[in-house]
Amino acid sequence: MPPQRDRVAGPRVPSILVHGGAGADPVEGRDELRAGVRVAILEGWRILAGGGSALDAVERAVRALEDHPRFNAGRGSVLTSAGAVETDASIMEGDRLQCGAVGAVSRIANPVTLARRVMEASRHILLVGEGALAFARAQGLPECDPEALVTERQRLRHRELVPATKGTVGAVALDRNGTIAAATSTGGLAGKLPGRVGDSALIGCGTYAESSIGGVSCTGDGEAIMRVVLARRALDDLKEADDPEYAARVAVDLLVEEGRGHGGLILLDWRGRMGWAHSTPLMPVALMSPAGQMDGTGSQLFNYLALGGRAAVASRPRPGTGSHEIIALNLPFAGSGNIRPTIMEPSRIARSAQMPSDKSVPPRLEFRRQFNS
Ligand code: ASP
Repeated sequence: MPPQRDRVAGPRVPSILVHGGAGADPVEGRDELRAGVRVAILEGWRILAGGGSALDAVERAVRALEDHPRFNAGRGSVLTSAGAVETDASIMEGDRLQCGAVGAVSRIANPVTLARRVMEASRHILLVGEGALAFARAQGLPECDPEALVTERQRLRHRELVPATKGTVGAVALDRNGTIAAATSTGGLAGKLPGRVGDSALIGCGTYAESSIGGVSCTGDGEAIMRVVLARRALDDLKEADDPEYAARVAVDLLVEEGRGHGGLILLDWRGRMGWAHSTPLMPVALMSPAGQMDGTGSQLFNYLALGGRAAVASRPRPGTGSHEIIALNLPFAGSGNIRPTIMEPSRIARSAQMPSDKSVPPRLEFRRQFNS
């Protein structure tokens, strides 16, 4: 077990945060990305809300994004220089630092599930290529025609050498027992050499979770992320600063300045507070946590979505309950209506979602620009 020094015993407010990859702003197709992360967050959330584990929640959320053809993971992955899909994925459970990963894997539609099998059913942490495939077969995981993972969009991009917008996916979650899990899955970098393995397969680089501190999933230039061991370094920053948003920003600065690359990360601390940052124009993020459960009121919904560098959160009274519902809006998709916007930091949003009393959450609409927009 990791040191429990700072961790307070007792049930936690479950929370989940997902990302859909740091990269260029696709301009058209943003709605699809938004819908994709929304579906993923709801799938993961359903598990947490039913008392399920953080590990199940992140696996489920990442699977949803792997199945979505618009993201660079599972089906829809970018192609190697040889025109094939080769995926990387990793998953980690932060109570006992259990982890599993796969690299340069083809023929598997849900690499995150294979990574979980490596974690649970092997004595290894990372399996790659043919060896990973042989393990998948031995585990009875479904194998698919490699062509089934290639979308027309990626085939066209490959043929026309269009620089791919990114779309790696990841999730971090905290469950009621206080366990934190994180997972990341990707097709990697477009045009990569066959056999290249990136940060998403490497524990400590693309993914890390330690329940006494927090969980992280990274995205961006894999070589730069590996250079600075970004996920673990972000948790070190979090431990030091005790501020998820600050830790995320410091980690992205590290990626840019010392790693010499671009990208982003999502981060969740042991209390369920969230942070994320990116140095690219876009990183779709969705998050969800119930507010009020800590004091047993259990009636508020916290759902914050960020896309295109802008996001909004609103709370409104729930008729007849005396409580408030916090709803997510996405600017510029949603108008601000008649509610006066104010600036709010994500860490404060997370804190307000955990306010001890319904009455302390006034109706409001709040939005902020992402740091890098
Ligand atoms: N980090 C991934 C890789 O280098 C790519 C990405 O996140 O877009 O494989």
